[in-house]
Amino acid sequence: MWMNKLYRLGSKLKNRRLLHSVAVIWFVLMTYFGCAGAWPRNALAAGKALYLTFDDGPSERYTPLVLNILRQQHVHATFFVVGTRCEHYPGLAKRILREGHEIGNHSYSHHYFANASRQTVFADTLRADRAIIHVTGHKPYYYRPPGGIMAVGEVQAVRSLGHPIMLWTVDSLDWRAATEQEIIKNVRRGTQPGAIILFHDGVSSSRYTVSALPKIIRYYKAQGYQFRRLPQRPGLNNVTPVGFGNGR
Ligand SMILES: [Zn+2]
Repeated sequence: MWMNKLYRLGSKLKNRRLLHSVAVIWFVLMTYFGCAGAWPRNALAAGKALYLTFDDGPSERYTPLVLNILRQQHVHATFFVVGTRCEHYPGLAKRILREGHEIGNHSYSHHYFANASRQTVFADTLRADRAIIHVTGHKPYYYRPPGGIMAVGEVQAVRSLGHPIMLWTVDSLDWRAATEQEIIKNVRRGTQPGAIILFHDGVSSSRYTVSALPKIIRYYKAQGYQFRRLPQRPGLNNVTPVGFGNGR
């Protein structure tokens, strides 16, 4: 549609060829580097890749089980950890990195910030960064807000600390699941190449996540998918401020 509009404009300008080149370059840049906070569809889809992400840990009970499964399956994932939990379980935070996974910032205390001031979000995010760095020596790259909800000012506060914001494209809804089958069904419904799948390793229903996870990995492996950490690519964002989130 936008291409047609540009063509019509180009005809008037008698410079259609140049305009086509500019439009193609623009499209490629937007696809690979993102634009205006939108997830660049298929930007991470090469080679049927999937991106498993785990929020709210580390937890003493479930994070070791998730890590065991990922190790057995030889796949890597991204853990969006909570600052206070890193302080409580430093050994688990270190293990996540030691076993080749990525760590993201999921706030210091997991308060919902949809109505908080920019300063509050800035301070909390910085505190989480410091906690994670203190424990692991590693500065998290991506930020994922508690609940997945952010106002525009909060997006700016987080970005001013150097964090791209990374939500998800598929919600397993494991935080409210009563069976592993529910989680498997939710994942299968939305997953396609390049999907960023949201799980939790730090809530009570994570026990169902743990039982569903090997089945989900085997199912997609059998279809030729690979599982990867979220790549640290400048400009890559997935954020829809305010009202998007239904995770935890
Ligand atoms: Zn959370």
